[in-house]
Amino acid sequence: MIELRNITKKFYQKTKAITALSDVSLTVPEGKIFGVIGASGAGKSTLIRCVNLLEKPTSGEVIVDGQNLMELSSKELAKARRHIGMIFQHFNLLSSRTVFENVAFSLELDHTPKAEIQQRVSDLLSLVGLDEKHHDYPVNLSGGQKQRVAIARTLASNPKVLLCDEATSALDPATTKSILALLKDINKRLNITILLITHEMDVVKDICDEVAVISEGQLIEQGAVSEIFSHP
Ligand code: ADP
Ligand code: ADP
Repeated sequence: MIELRNITKKFYQKTKAITALSDVSLTVPEGKIFGVIGASGAGKSTLIRCVNLLEKPTSGEVIVDGQNLMELSSKELAKARRHIGMIFQHFNLLSSRTVFENVAFSLELDHTPKAEIQQRVSDLLSLVGLDEKHHDYPVNLSGGQKQRVAIARTLASNPKVLLCDEATSALDPATTKSILALLKDINKRLNITILLITHEMDVVKDICDEVAVISEGQLIEQGAVSEIFSHP
């Protein structure tokens, strides 16, 4: 479902080039949850941002759902990106809009009929456990509730793939557990393939089927979670 082939990403600064990713290849099969773990500065953010071309790789190929994203026109890329959802550490909700309006936003841009928006947003808020929060503003929500809104918002555009950029790093351990359970539920029930990056071992152990370890821009290990974390 997601395939990165020989991705290298260099950032050019005044006097030097920083190689953030060096010949990284990985495959995330459809329906799986794939985790990339590594220390701060290892290249995790750069890697996940390459999947929807928020960062353009210096070289290599990005294939999502059978499409080579680097070959698409900007119009085609915009369309492809609609099926690549993303959630973030700091949620990125619109603070001037209610929970309902945040989730409805992309549907409104699409000119979806009002009755359909009403139904779809209600269903999504129910799915993420926020039935009672339609009219609340983000400022009045807990961290876990904000991330639930962000998940509902990204599901509104029917993604096939969900990218999670340190999605639980701002949450306490109990809330982290509940958000991971929700992601697992979404993966199973909606058959959404998930790629996540994290610096937390427990996140990977909790929900990932497969894991890759990244260090200084290189994938140094890759396999089933049970293989990578088995203790002799
Ligand atoms: P991680 O997410 O694992 O902390 P990043 O992908 O953010 O790692 O960073 C990997 C490396 O690339 C680091 O050395 C970082 O300083 C560098 N880097 C990331 N983004 C930029 C940028 N926009 N310009 C220059 N260097 C960058
Ligand atoms: P927090 O602990 O920050 O309040 P949570 O993510 O634990 O955030 O929960 C957010 C809301 O979702 C709460 O109102 C909670 O009751 C509800 N909730 C938690 N887990 C589930 C679940 N599995 N299904 C439905 N609703 C849930």
